[in-house]
Amino acid sequence: MVELNRELFEKIVKVAQSRGFVFNSSSIYGGLRSSYDYGPLGSILKKNISEEWWKSLSSNPDINIYPIDTSIIQSSQVWKASGHLSEFSDPLVECKKCNTRLRSDMLNDLSCDCDFPEFTEPKNFNLMFSTNIGPTENEDSKVYLRPETAQGIFINFENVQRTMRAKLPFGIANIGKSFRNEITPGQFIFRTREFEQMEIEFFCKTEDSSKWFEYWKEKRMQWYHSLGISKDYLRFREHNESELAHYAKQTVDIEFLYPWGWGELEGIADRGKYDIEAHQNASGKDLTYFDTEDNLKIVPNVIEPAAGLTRTVFALLCASYKEDNVNNETRNFFSFNFNLAPVQIGILPLSKKDNLIKLANEINNMLLGKYRTEIDVTQSIGKRYRRQDEIGTPFCITVDFDSLEDGKVTIRDRDNMQQQRVSIDKLLKFFDKD
Ligand code: ATP
Repeated sequence: MVELNRELFEKIVKVAQSRGFVFNSSSIYGGLRSSYDYGPLGSILKKNISEEWWKSLSSNPDINIYPIDTSIIQSSQVWKASGHLSEFSDPLVECKKCNTRLRSDMLNDLSCDCDFPEFTEPKNFNLMFSTNIGPTENEDSKVYLRPETAQGIFINFENVQRTMRAKLPFGIANIGKSFRNEITPGQFIFRTREFEQMEIEFFCKTEDSSKWFEYWKEKRMQWYHSLGISKDYLRFREHNESELAHYAKQTVDIEFLYPWGWGELEGIADRGKYDIEAHQNASGKDLTYFDTEDNLKIVPNVIEPAAGLTRTVFALLCASYKEDNVNNETRNFFSFNFNLAPVQIGILPLSKKDNLIKLANEINNMLLGKYRTEIDVTQSIGKRYRRQDEIGTPFCITVDFDSLEDGKVTIRDRDNMQQQRVSIDKLLKFFDKD
């Protein structure tokens, strides 16, 4: 396990930015603070992670999960009923001298650049971004960008249950952008104002809620392991009484060991009946479930595994960053699993001679469609290997002059750098086992 620290954090950010994973947003205009764009490799990595998330839910025979894709802008009444309008805030303090704004609950010592700062009393700062719908700006046209994907699920509980004829227990999974006007965003893509979430609401009978809470706790932890994140970087942290949201019966965080210490990666909460009841009361609609076993209408209990997709990208970058020593030089690489790597196979013709490029293209055409490949012809072979290592490509195929004669290529393994000759007609089979 590599010990993550500030120096390593800076290296990871540098590789991520210089190799096309993440760019500073609006960079040609000087950038927008704590806003990021995902480059070609980052957006593929992000998509691969979200696909693994959905695959883990849809291919699990123990559970029944329905996908949903809900609006970013919903009726303001959603946020009133859910409590976000009144409660979704952080305590904000401001230095009266330099106007630096800080979250007072996250810092042991409040500080800014002033020698003798003078902070205001904490006041609640609502984290929702507001905007207006339609041409007039008034209280009636005011709407909010969703601060979480979860409420989109609750307000569609009845729609999904009815149209899918779903029986308890079942879950609904929503993935997409969420927006929070964080007071102190930062640490690269760990905390941003615009981010992506992957949330599940799992509806069950109240008497089964403890069982399902334990189930999800284990399942979600296993999922992070399946991404290739070492167990050393992950742990559970139970919320104590004082941290629990007023509606939550039990909450546990899956924490990751970030370069600055342990922090949240995902929260798993037993939310009881709170959300469905809140929307039922506010909308006046019947959101109950008819339990055919007991012949009565019930409000189901909810277990919520709420993960951050963009935060998982960051955790994966950190957990996968490796360095070793090759010929007295430091080599760095991301040890991404084959299924997650943005480029799975690099194809490197030894020279730019036409016949080698032609063969490299033929190999590429054979693998393309099944694998994410990239042909790289620029620079020396050593430099090309380094670049593929840096972006976490598990295998490189080198096409050399012998290949033209014997129909074989050299496959180099990223992790141990071992090379082996493999017949071109056996390549598909070779990668199939990975
Ligand atoms: P934190 O304590 O870090 O602010 P939270 O407890 O407010 O997080 P939740 O509301 O439980 O977070 O959201 C579920 C997940 O969404 C978090 O575990 C995290 O992975 C992700 N997430 C929340 N806020 C942000 C953000 N500003 N930037 C990136 N990811 C976020």
